[in-house]
Amino acid sequence: MNNLPPSNPLRHVDEWDDYVASRYQEGKAASDFRKYDPQAHPGVAEFYQLNHAHQTVAFVQGKKQQYLAFEKGKKSIWGAAEFLNVLVDDSDPDTDVSQIEHLMQTSEAIRKDGHPRWFVLTGFLHDLGKVLCLYNEPQWAVVGDTFPVGCAYSDQIVYHEYFAMNPDSKVPDYQTLYGIYEPNCGLDKVHLSWGHDEYIYHVVKNYLPEEAHYMLRYHSFYPAHRHGAYQHLMSKHDEKMFEWVRKFNPYDLYSKGAARPNVLELKPYYEDLFAEFFPAQLAW
Ligand code: FE
Ligand code: FE
Repeated sequence: MNNLPPSNPLRHVDEWDDYVASRYQEGKAASDFRKYDPQAHPGVAEFYQLNHAHQTVAFVQGKKQQYLAFEKGKKSIWGAAEFLNVLVDDSDPDTDVSQIEHLMQTSEAIRKDGHPRWFVLTGFLHDLGKVLCLYNEPQWAVVGDTFPVGCAYSDQIVYHEYFAMNPDSKVPDYQTLYGIYEPNCGLDKVHLSWGHDEYIYHVVKNYLPEEAHYMLRYHSFYPAHRHGAYQHLMSKHDEKMFEWVRKFNPYDLYSKGAARPNVLELKPYYEDLFAEFFPAQLAW
């Protein structure tokens, strides 16, 4: 692949999250979602070039084989959150909230709105899959808007034009509307681009209700939950459950401005919450 940018063009993986939040900031027209401030997010276009060029059917299948064998050791939820906290933002160490703080800002906003405990817990868990960065995965294989591989790319995917660099775009079987899938087969049968959503979903799925599965697995699937794309692959059940993905999304996008949570003070509440749903250790 020629002329691709260096492997990690974002200053930090959270720059992608900040960019998405700016894309959907309140008052911005839905049609403006592709516009962004290159000054504020200089690595974003380069990041999407890599993501769209490298997320192929074969890549996704390979990552599933590699990570869904859960050979990265056993860790508690809190242990994983502390591990993730190693991921500090070098560019701005004083003003950016830590990873645990982002998880807690999300979950605390959910708690304040009086949602059930599994929903609060899901808020805390949602970005734990970013530990993939610490397994040396490049940014484009951890974050980014997710999209189905093995079928035509929707023009509702941001930086859609960069798919021209994806080798799958030259595979005719992968470029029909349904590609390798059956009409309305259900998203469980569809391979989305690999990243932190799919990984955390598989780590915790046995312990949480189905609503949480959808929130975790599809929280970066913006083409579908924000733009209504890929309904031809979704089942009726998916469509119903996406209500929960949409319910979750504002807590992810808009809780960053909230006051910094007092992590040590809140820790006992979260330890109780983890113990209610999970064994002491999970396989990662
Ligand atoms: Fe996320
Ligand atoms: Fe998040």
